[in-house]
Amino acid sequence: MAKVGFVGLGQMGTPMSRNLARAGHQLSVFDLAADAMDALVAEGAERRASPADAARDAEFVFTMLPVGLIVEQAVFGDDGIAEGISAEALYIDMSTILPQETIAIGARLAEQGIPMIDAPVGRTSAQADTGTVVFMVGGDDKDIDRARPLLEIMGEMTIKCGPLGSAAAVKLVNNYITTVSNLTLAEGFALAQAAGVNLDALVEVISNTPAGRGHLQTTWPDKALKDDPSPAFMVDLAHKDLGLALEMAASLNVPAATGAAGRQIYSLARSQGRGGDDWTTGILRTLRALSGLND
Ligand code: NAD
Repeated sequence: MAKVGFVGLGQMGTPMSRNLARAGHQLSVFDLAADAMDALVAEGAERRASPADAARDAEFVFTMLPVGLIVEQAVFGDDGIAEGISAEALYIDMSTILPQETIAIGARLAEQGIPMIDAPVGRTSAQADTGTVVFMVGGDDKDIDRARPLLEIMGEMTIKCGPLGSAAAVKLVNNYITTVSNLTLAEGFALAQAAGVNLDALVEVISNTPAGRGHLQTTWPDKALKDDPSPAFMVDLAHKDLGLALEMAASLNVPAATGAAGRQIYSLARSQGRGGDDWTTGILRTLRALSGLND
């Protein structure tokens, strides 16, 4: 059983560290909010007075904190992890922070000879509770392999993304997609309600098209993922349909912000001569070109 230091016992950190304690690992915990530690102490964890203290004697030190600046403070601030951690330990940050913040923290720790991996978490606190989160991991293979038995207690999937910081990047791309698609879905439901549509029928329709089943599971595998522009459905028609939906939204005074911004990109795709391309490949190629990437 491993000695584990754990800093940050919020909505995610509490159930995740509890799963480590229940699997028999020896936990030392710290959170700025003293009462956040009570639940873990009840599971047999040791209450510590600072991040440095939580890291002392630990083989693995985890952080699960809100933002990068706080992670940096917890590691390098007064009584921070860097003061207490042993050179034999592995530091694992699971917070959602910027890749460049992760890389900077890793570089400073490396000067002390301390290895780090980033392991941000997919899914929510419900899966943190049941030990079924998804980990994205970045860092050296040997460090990832060392952490794997502990990650497998807290999660049901560990996906290697590349070097340190790459997991943070994957996590942010993932969350970009989920947060924006959540908004688009909400806009659609508000529009449907304003149009007096039967919402059960709407759910049934959406659930049986790419709108609900997800582009990655339906339209993308044979087209955008293969960079094949031959059209199953053309950019021109998608541009027309999005325009009609925006016109309907305007007539009902429903905001359709993501669609309005998105239509500019469909127009750009057409002005770049991609109107006859498949809508998935055509839009991806347009965004690549606008980003200075290979067409
Ligand atoms: P939270 O706000 O519930 O918990 C953060 C904890 O950190 C709090 O208990 C707080 O007291 C503690 N804290 C703050 N500053 C501290 C410091 N300097 N030293 C020690 N402890 C300190 O947040 P959360 O929901 O557990 O999220 C943690 C991270 O995980 C975030 O980056 C979040 O984006 C990410 N995440 C959250 C979810 C989710 O469903 N909540 C899912 C995936 C990823």
